[in-house]
Amino acid sequence: MSVKLYNTLTRKKETFIPIEEGKVKMYVCGPTVYNYIHIGNARPAIVFDTVRRHLQYRGYDVMYVSNFTDVDDKLIRAANELGEEVPAVAERFIEAYFEDTEALGCQRADVHPRVTENIELIVAFISELVNKGFAYESGGDVYYRTRKFDGYGKLSHQSIDELKVGARIGAGEKKDDALDFVLWKAAKEGEISWSSPWGEGRPGWHIECSAMARKYLGDSIDIHAGGQDLAFPHHENEIAQSEALTEKPFARYWLHNGYINIDNEKMSKSLGNFVLVHDIIKEVDPQVLRFFMLSVHYRNPVNYNRELLDSAAASLDRLKIAYDNVKHRKASSTDLTENNDQWLEKIEAHHTRFLQEMDDDFNTANAISVLFDLSKDANVYLLEDHTATAVLDAFLSKFEDMFFVLGLQVKQEELLDEDIDALIQERNEARKNRDFARADSIRDQLKDMNIILEDTAQGIRWRRG
Ligand SMILES: [Zn+2]
Repeated sequence: MSVKLYNTLTRKKETFIPIEEGKVKMYVCGPTVYNYIHIGNARPAIVFDTVRRHLQYRGYDVMYVSNFTDVDDKLIRAANELGEEVPAVAERFIEAYFEDTEALGCQRADVHPRVTENIELIVAFISELVNKGFAYESGGDVYYRTRKFDGYGKLSHQSIDELKVGARIGAGEKKDDALDFVLWKAAKEGEISWSSPWGEGRPGWHIECSAMARKYLGDSIDIHAGGQDLAFPHHENEIAQSEALTEKPFARYWLHNGYINIDNEKMSKSLGNFVLVHDIIKEVDPQVLRFFMLSVHYRNPVNYNRELLDSAAASLDRLKIAYDNVKHRKASSTDLTENNDQWLEKIEAHHTRFLQEMDDDFNTANAISVLFDLSKDANVYLLEDHTATAVLDAFLSKFEDMFFVLGLQVKQEELLDEDIDALIQERNEARKNRDFARADSIRDQLKDMNIILEDTAQGIRWRRG
């Protein structure tokens, strides 16, 4: 078994070899928390959560760090518009981020560091760059001296001369060279700020990831990931900052997910076609959104629209129904005599192929088609009226494993006692109102959950079967 992944740095699919055997140090650039996340932010959260799950399933101990940019120009603007303080706005949207991504089945990172909690660390990082001659102060700002770093452009495969063509010195910037980028910004009147050797100010965007990745994961990490739009300049600048300071390779493997288009158009402010996760999951099961995203290889663009989402919902339903039907058959099966070898081999082969697809640069699109093959076989098995417990168990456990890796839930949540009481109450009401269809459907639902109802002199009693 070996995992292969496409490395933006080498533009090749490579065999994954972690720095430390059995461990993975992984950093994923997180959002700027000035609004609810849109589906473009949801994609890296889902994709790299799936990468993490697969590596975990393959036995790696994954340390996963993802930051929050909780101070920057956009946050300051949002806070001004709302008449609030920056920390209050950031806090609210961090909470919303957790709510939305957890609904999407994303596990929390081991650490979610925030810029404002790491200012001292960032100031120390910049000071060291200044001491080493890679950075300079100018009018209260500090800039990175890009030309001094030899490897600049290696991630985005551009030469310094190619980059020079597009570089401009913007209004208010006090840098020596158009290619230089800001590490520390002097505070404007009334802005949130911290003190530093260069006066009151706040960090530029790129420096936070270099400083926080180093703090939690060390000088060199295994996987650094983010959206394709971050490869240049953000990740290129991270490399320049980190490698100038530590003189060691920053990240072994760079993973980037593709863009999202809305109805074949780019998501943009001017088109006003941003889709917020917060809104869409009020109408659509968040698992459907996750399944939809994973039905495309993470490096390819995703085209989003409601019809495609609806068809993803129907597909996911088919898989879940197959699983539920196996479960249902199992509840009444006791057959231990059938010869099962052929079926068990088939099920095992699907599982192996699923893992091979995931090992091959996390090809979730193909892995999902294996899941459909498994469900087709499950349907055939049930149609042929087999009832062998060993086969049914094998179907269930492979379904569950594959769903776990994809971050989808196939098992229904255990009903709590109060939910059961409420359902029984509702059934009683339905019967009183002669709504027998509703009453029967509640009884079936409870039966599926293995809840047994008993008529007693005191009314309906229930117990778990
Ligand atoms: Zn970053």
